[in-house]
Formats: sequence, structure tokens, C-alpha cells
Amino acid sequence: MTKPKVLISGASVAGPALAYFLHRSGYDVTVVERASLVRDSGYAVDFRGAAFDVLAEMGVLDEIRGHDTKMRGTAVVDGSGTEIGQLPTETFAGELEVPKRELTRILHEATTGDVAYVFGDPITALTQHESGVAVEFERGVAADFDLVFGADGVHSNVRRLAFGPRADVLRHLGMSGVGFSIANYLGLDHTGLLRPGQGTTVYLFSSADSDRLTVSLSFATSSPEWDRRSRAEQEQAVRSAFAGQGWEVPRLLDAMTDAEDFFFASSCQVHLDRWSCGRVALVGDAGYCAAPTSGMGTSQALIGAQALARQLAAADADPETAFAAYEKELRPYVTDNQDKGYQTAVMFGGAAEPPSL
Ligand SMILES: Cc1cc2nc3c(=O)[nH]c(=O)nc-3n(C[C@H](O)[C@H](O)[C@H](O)COP(=O)(O)OP(=O)(O)OC[C@H]3O[C@@H](n4cnc5c(N)ncnc54)[C@H](O)[C@@H]3O)c2cc1C
Repeated sequence: MTKPKVLISGASVAGPALAYFLHRSGYDVTVVERASLVRDSGYAVDFRGAAFDVLAEMGVLDEIRGHDTKMRGTAVVDGSGTEIGQLPTETFAGELEVPKRELTRILHEATTGDVAYVFGDPITALTQHESGVAVEFERGVAADFDLVFGADGVHSNVRRLAFGPRADVLRHLGMSGVGFSIANYLGLDHTGLLRPGQGTTVYLFSSADSDRLTVSLSFATSSPEWDRRSRAEQEQAVRSAFAGQGWEVPRLLDAMTDAEDFFFASSCQVHLDRWSCGRVALVGDAGYCAAPTSGMGTSQALIGAQALARQLAAADADPETAFAAYEKELRPYVTDNQDKGYQTAVMFGGAAEPPSL
């Protein structure tokens, strides 16, 4: 009997994890990724709760533990840099924290022998028909698949192509932030400094690479449109938000301009009434991003991938039954994580209004 053919878009966390479990269930799996290589960028990510069971089931938990950033607590400081409190390690580093590039690499290596990976070739069109999905690619030859999965992050291409106008589901949490790294001139040793202000937050930490200090400057914004602005405009918005602040802020703003690893991201969640549409389903941030402020995105992506594959196996590959069961199982967990992402955004000066459903 020929194996059912499935396509996954996105090779970061949810994509390779889903590929692992679907291959194990007997599917012929292809993963397409927009980036030209396995991604080696991204902040540290952390794991909480049942995500450990998923990593153990995949046989990668020990290797992942070997990349523990060994982050310790974070000191909360006032406007002049005087310590006014301490946040426990779990606040930012969960039960285990690793650099995201190591997680992505390990998940790719765990699956690359069994799964076909195609880099630098995103999907350009999806057409569903009675027995499958016809898929076109930017470079590759068009092909038919039994099922297609979007594991392509908060701005999911699969969501846009398969869900049409219903894909417009980003909920901005009222804050955006820039991140970059500089020399660890403060000598932080697996610790962080958090300085909350009026509608702004500075978070500095040094973890895996003790020579570098990661800088996060977040501030209140009213829409995610800043993501699409030029770097010069984004930097200007940061300068305006932090204007007149003392402590290390002027030095950090100067360093921002020269940073090679500068990135800007609005804090957004994905709220969809359904996570699937016919033979297409979403997993991880693509379907139900809880925002970086939740600290749950990586765990959710792993747990979601495992649940989706398990429900497909239980439903004997019937997508309608499996996707409904996947959603029923995971919704309460996702709702909790999204609440947490929202509450933390409020703490950091974002989200003036609770997101309405
Ligand atoms: C600044 C920041 C800090 C964070 N901190 C934490 C944290 O401390 N703890 C935590 O748990 N989570 C954190 N997160 C969230 C976490 O990174 C995500 O929740 C998690 O990576 C979700 O995994 P994913 O595989 O669903 O999506 P992603 O990791 O976003 O991966 C999506 C993949 O799809 C690819 N892709 C995009 N478009 C296409 C396309 N058109 N075609 C093919 N491929 C495509 C991308 O290149 C990428 O490889 C943070 C996120 C940010 C931005």
C-alpha cells in the first residue's frame, strides 16, 4: 500500500516535530522551508510541562538538556539601576532554556533521515479537491498531497492561502520590541536585568554566550504595522519611546544602530475560530500563537504537533475527525497560554484592552 503523502510548511519547531510523529505513523513526509538553510537565529526558548514528554518521546531530551543556558534569576531595577526585586529563573527561562538555533538543529537532525526537507522553496498556491491538495511552489514542480500542514509561524503563508480572508486573525497586544546583542560590558553572568518604565521595558541578559549581552527594548504600540516599516523608522520609534531615560538606555540606543542582529517584532497572538480547513491544518504559532510574552510558544508548538499526529492516528487518518479532536483537546491549553501572554503584555506596558474573541 502506498503511504499517504503529506506536506508541512515550516522547519523550525512545530514543523520538524510534526514530521517526526507523522513519519512514525507511516506517512510519507515532505517539509518545505522558506529559509535557504536550517535557521540558526532566534532568542533562547524555554520548555514547560508536557513539552518534556514530547521531547523524550522524540528521543532528543538528553541532547537538548546538554544545551541548557543555565540561566539564573533576573533582577528588577528602578530608573537609576538600583535593584528593587528579583524574578525567579522560571519567569523567563521556564524549566529548561536553550538557544533556539540548537533546538531547531536538533529537531532537524532527528528527522532528516526519514523526512524530505526542501529549503528555500515556499508554497505559492494551494487548491483543495476531493481527494487531496494540489500545491504549487516558488521553484519546485507542483504536486498533490493528501494533507497539508502550516507550521510556518505567526505570519503563516499556509493560513493565508488556505483560509482566505479568515486568515486575518492577528491580535496585537499593544506592544512591540527590538532585540539585538552587544558585548557583555555589564558582566552579567547567566542573569538578567529588567527595568520596567512607563510603557517601556528594558530587559538585558547574558546566558549561553557569556561574551554577549542580549538587549530587548519593548514599548507600547497601537498596531503591528511597525513590523513592515524600514529599520530606520523602527529605530526612530524606539528612540522616541525611550527618549529622556537614564541608566544604560542612552548607551543601548547608540549600540542599536550598529547591531548586525537587530530585529523588530510586534507582540501578536493568532486567534482563529477553526485551526483547519478541509485537508489543511495549522500547528504551533501559525494556528494559535500565544505571543512571546506567554513563554509558552515552544512548548505549545511541540505539544500541538504531537497531539495532531496522535489524533490522525486515532482517527485512522480521517482529517475531519482528527482535526476536530485535535482542536478539542488543545483549545483549553492554548486559551490558558494566550491569557498568560496577554497578562504579561499588560505587565510590560502593552494591551490597553483585553483581546475580545
Ligand atoms: C523575541 C521572541 C522571544 C521569544 N521567547 C520565547 C521564550 O522565551 N519561550 C518560548 O517558549 N517561546 C518564545 N518565543 C516564541 C517561540 O519562538 C515560538 O512560539 C515558537 O518558535 C513557535 O514555533 P513554530 O515552529 O510554530 O514557529 P516558528 O518558530 O516561528 O517557525 C516558523 C518557521 O516557518 C518558516 N516560514 C515562514 N514563512 C514560511 C513560508 N512562507 N514557507 C515556508 N516556511 C516558512 C520560518 O522560516 C520558520 O522556520 C519567542 C519569540 C520571539 C519572537
